[in-house]
Amino acid sequence: MTQSQKTVFEKSGGKETATYFQVIEFYKQLAQRSPIIKVETRLETDASYPLHLILISNNKKFDPSAWKKEKKVIILINNGIHPGEPDGIDASMMLARDIADKKITLPDNVALGIIPVYNIGGALNRNHFSRVNQDGPESYGFRGNAQNLDLNRDFTKCDSKNARSFTEIFHFLDPDILVDTHVSDGADYQHTMTLITSQYNKLGEELGSWVKDVFEPALFKGMKEKNWDMVHYVNVEDKDPSHGFSMFYDSPRYSTGYAALFNTICFMPETQMLKPYMESV
Ligand SMILES: [Zn+2]
Repeated sequence: MTQSQKTVFEKSGGKETATYFQVIEFYKQLAQRSPIIKVETRLETDASYPLHLILISNNKKFDPSAWKKEKKVIILINNGIHPGEPDGIDASMMLARDIADKKITLPDNVALGIIPVYNIGGALNRNHFSRVNQDGPESYGFRGNAQNLDLNRDFTKCDSKNARSFTEIFHFLDPDILVDTHVSDGADYQHTMTLITSQYNKLGEELGSWVKDVFEPALFKGMKEKNWDMVHYVNVEDKDPSHGFSMFYDSPRYSTGYAALFNTICFMPETQMLKPYMESV
């Protein structure tokens, strides 16, 4: 195997995030090196560049309907819906690379889909100041897309071509789990990682209870064991947090609410914007 590819994030010592074009080029090179990775070019976006979808499966088959028959768990990771929050873009590149290099083992019963950058128009609109309090990276994309739409409010109305293309990808993969990566908007606390989970009751009695009582606690436990203690998304506004946090109301215009319409479990990791970019990624 040729020498492992390094991401822009790694080469800059955690100070920079890859541009849209660097991200796509990285995955294309990765797919040339590794037969378990496929890069698909799919459908339109408002920015006139197509959405890409990365597929990863140990058996080198890239057909979601066959994955279903093999009872694989299908996980879709969506990155850069808010390109000023690019942690997941860089983290996914390293994850895919480490799977290709066999530093991380993808279980045989898991197939992975990655949308490398969802809001391409926002990613192309790079700046240094739209998230000025965030501790890195040095430059990053803008929240609005090419039509200045917030794509994490567009999952049902579909005013953007991005959302219509996402709908097709979502139903093509029919994922068991969707992960939509974000960075928080300013509350300060000890944890680097926060998590929003689909509201359990929307997933139905059996699945909802399992997510609440088994799946989600296992994630918190696993993070703690890795010394990355995680907390639920901090959404307290001006109330006294000692009374608890209300759960985020995720109507279907949000990724988590949209996924729940189709019994897909969705997680929104929200890293804390005031922590160093190196740690958040
Ligand atoms: Zn966000």
